[in-house]
Amino acid sequence: MDAIPNTSRTTVRRIPKNASYDRSAINAILDEALVCHVGFVEGGLPYVIPTLHARAGDRLFIHGSAASRLTRTLATGHDVCVSVTLLDGIVFARSVFNHSMNYRSVIIFGKATAIEGEEEKREAMRLFSEHAMPGRWREARQPTAVELKATLVLALPIEEASAKVRTGPPVDDEDDLTFSVWAGVLPLALCKGEPVTDTADIDLPGYLRGDGRWSR
Ligand SMILES: Cc1cc2nc3c(=O)[nH]c(=O)nc-3n(C[C@H](O)[C@H](O)[C@H](O)COP(=O)(O)OP(=O)(O)OC[C@H]3O[C@@H](n4cnc5c(N)ncnc54)[C@H](O)[C@@H]3O)c2cc1C
Repeated sequence: MDAIPNTSRTTVRRIPKNASYDRSAINAILDEALVCHVGFVEGGLPYVIPTLHARAGDRLFIHGSAASRLTRTLATGHDVCVSVTLLDGIVFARSVFNHSMNYRSVIIFGKATAIEGEEEKREAMRLFSEHAMPGRWREARQPTAVELKATLVLALPIEEASAKVRTGPPVDDEDDLTFSVWAGVLPLALCKGEPVTDTADIDLPGYLRGDGRWSR
């Protein structure tokens, strides 16, 4: 197991048996999630911004308009905390108190740096595209130099990170086990719907047919 060394910030204190610092477990959660939440403090106020991410090796990429608060703030080397959550189910216990959720989540702390070179930026753009829409990059029009210039791409090292995973049935108090109410897990998963065409004269591409990216 390739574990990421835990620090005082990433040591899971609440229910530590659900913690993991295994790099491949952390990467798998990051790769399955389409959305992360980026937290930072700017001007004395906390912001938590949802956005698309992509991973390559030990770096998490975030991008956006060069004019956005998110990208401008991160580019100055601010402390950042990125959180990713996959919701796998709602856990119905006998008591309201013991209801829970099954999930896989990751938290990363660190400082991001801006990607400057045009080619590295273009490669990061390919990663974002392939992360959300595998197969799309080679078909859609490629970014121009002007579009790349208008985009800030940030790379956050995945060096201070934790995962937390809850699986399984409800955990009820002994005294509640005889309480007569349904208990169990309602599994939840992100799935794709029926594509809605904007180009009636063009066939649906292969990557939108079949199970594709979001099947589990
Ligand atoms: C979908 C979902 C629903 C949840 N619902 C609840 C709820 O209703 N009530 C509740 O108390 N908790 C809930 N949790 C768990 C919650 O995320 C925290 O783990 C928990 O509240 C303990 O917080 P803490 O600050 O005391 O953690 P601590 O254990 O003190 O955190 C220390 C460090 O552990 C790591 N860590 C903590 N939580 C996570 C995590 N979820 N993923 C990855 N790393 C983590 C971080 O690095 C953090 O800095 C939920 C989690 C998810 C994903």
